[in-house]
Amino acid sequence: MKKEIEIVLEKLEGFENPKLFLEQYVTPSNLAAFIVTNAKLFGDLETVVDLGCGTGILAIASAILGAFAIGVDVDIEALRIARRNAKKLGVEVEFVACDVKNFEVKKKCTVIMNPPFGIQKRHADRAFLEKAFEIAEKIYTIHSAGSEEFVKRTAEKNGFLVTHVWKFLIPLRKTYSFHEKPFEEIAVEVFRIERKNSVSWR
Ligand code: SAH
Repeated sequence: MKKEIEIVLEKLEGFENPKLFLEQYVTPSNLAAFIVTNAKLFGDLETVVDLGCGTGILAIASAILGAFAIGVDVDIEALRIARRNAKKLGVEVEFVACDVKNFEVKKKCTVIMNPPFGIQKRHADRAFLEKAFEIAEKIYTIHSAGSEEFVKRTAEKNGFLVTHVWKFLIPLRKTYSFHEKPFEEIAVEVFRIERKNSVSWR
């Protein structure tokens, strides 16, 4: 299942003019496929909110596996591409243009996100985590390596528990001119987090 999804996701368009201040990078399709197939196995793929969805890969991947998916981003240009991407693959995703801090949803949901790492703007990922803790029962989130303590502590403070940490090296395409090599590898950590009082698989 993972491989098939990965191949389909390869067809998606990325950012046209990535905006540095928004830290726009596309999640590699193999990582997106890994996350959604795991989420599906854990039974976490009913209503999915992709905070900072960019060109939509995580929301679209969730929709492919049957989720009711919502993508949220401040960048209208990115959302235009995301809509085109969803259409291309024939899946329904609801895209919402707003800052994550103003986003609200009524249903219980799973947040799947690749937030800004806070390299340009320190702690840019904090607002994303705060919103996820506010709206989600389960959270899948990608952070730069070395975030484990911070994520665990923040989860704990908000009544959540980190159940899994997966480590990956992902190739970062040379999207911005300050990168010298065409590709560089960066180490990332993917977390599965759940609300403590939610009924769990364990
Ligand atoms: N989730 C996409 C994009 C990741 S890049 C993917 O996995 O491929 C981070 C995204 O967060 C960008 O699209 C950027 O526009 C968006 N973003 C940054 N700050 C935001 C904010 N405050 N509110 C909503 N979206 C934001």
